[in-house]
Amino acid sequence: MNVAIIGTGYVGLPTGVGLAELGHQVVCIDREQSKIDALQAGKITLYEDGLEELFRKNTKEKRLHFTTSMKDGISNAELVIIAVGTPPHPITKEADMKYIHAAATELAEHLTRYTIIATKSTVPVGTGDDIEILIAKKNPQAEFDVVSLPEFLREGYAVHDFFNPDRIIVGANSDKAKEKIKELYKAFDNEIPMLFVSRRSSETIKYASNAFLAMKIHYINEMANFCEKADANIYEVAQGMGLDSRIGPKFLTPGPGYGGSCFPKDTLAMAYMARQNDVEMSLITATIKGNDNRKKEMAERIVNAVKYIDNPKIAVLGLAFKNGTDDCRESPAIEIVSELVNRKYSVFAYDPKAMKNAETLIGSKITYCQSAYEAVENADVLAILTEWEEFKKLDLNKIASLMKNKTIIDCRNMLDKQKALSLDFNYQGIGI
Ligand code: NAD
Repeated sequence: MNVAIIGTGYVGLPTGVGLAELGHQVVCIDREQSKIDALQAGKITLYEDGLEELFRKNTKEKRLHFTTSMKDGISNAELVIIAVGTPPHPITKEADMKYIHAAATELAEHLTRYTIIATKSTVPVGTGDDIEILIAKKNPQAEFDVVSLPEFLREGYAVHDFFNPDRIIVGANSDKAKEKIKELYKAFDNEIPMLFVSRRSSETIKYASNAFLAMKIHYINEMANFCEKADANIYEVAQGMGLDSRIGPKFLTPGPGYGGSCFPKDTLAMAYMARQNDVEMSLITATIKGNDNRKKEMAERIVNAVKYIDNPKIAVLGLAFKNGTDDCRESPAIEIVSELVNRKYSVFAYDPKAMKNAETLIGSKITYCQSAYEAVENADVLAILTEWEEFKKLDLNKIASLMKNKTIIDCRNMLDKQKALSLDFNYQGIGI
């Protein structure tokens, strides 16, 4: 199938690469010239495990192309996937639709034959209807169907999740469109459940799922706080809970709060839609507030560890919002570090993948180090904020010899608590 994808970011690029790997002809369109220049020159623009290899293979085999031109990009497309951002509106916190509207307006004038327009972006309920009206107004001759095709991939596992999704949700109001989406995912036949629902249900499923997952994370974080006071162990508690098939074992790992480009904005957008529809969603509003407080609490733990030290040095390991990605958007680590910087602390940070992105957010207010050991040298406290596997393998003896004061605030429980205690560290994990 000839597919065009508008937006070549964390969703658009892995989707484009994945669809090309399934055998489709894919053109990825982005309005950022530098991104397209890099991709055309064979340089990948974001880090995802396994993406670069497939990107190279499919560009070489000429199934994957890149352009900034909407006209060139969609001239042959049977299916146009919209994967542009839907960030929170700065004031109302609803999903800001300016990129979606711009993409729909731009593509409308180039539709020359029956085309499916599918939204992979996370969009408020009713967006499919709005896009339909917008395109029909801009190009009354256009023949098209608008489909909701929400994306559930996890950053850091985008390639894995593209080929192994739990389910594919299709919100389509026409049989013709349903058939086309079936054809798109033909390679997954009988392996991946495909659920056909109304467009509005599909749009709701995405928000309902993300808000639920955010709530689950917040729940286990609060339970971790309880375990710390009650001398229980959150891992034992989570394991015991997770064995109940009604609960399930996933998303029961405590940490410094959820982040990333999805959960924070999607919970806010869901809360906004609830208010607009006069529906009370107290669990979601409590989750949003609790998660904001969580990051402040984590910063407070770090500050408490150094409050009696003159000009303390704080070492931070991890800046990405989670492991496996270089994405720092809404990263708890960035918010915690920013709080420390606002309070004038000296921060020395290291992240295996996300330093460049972190620098665009925090600038030169902190020192970026080339390794974990460089960051901890002469530090008074070490805070671990992202769950990179390599942090688990750190040599605690070496850290003990490098640090000035031996305090560890391990917000991801990466290090061995017993070993840290045996080396006379003041070690604080989460819920343990
Ligand atoms: P992103 O910011 O990484 O990428 C968006 C891209 O769209 C950018 O490269 C931007 O230049 C481009 N763009 C914007 N307007 C354009 C236009 N008119 N024409 C061409 N290109 C345009 O965003 P993302 O993280 O990929 O997220 C995209 C959508 O997918 C969002 O709605 C998000 O909520 C949703 N989503 C994201 C994830 C995730 O893990 N990141 C997961 C599921 C769903």
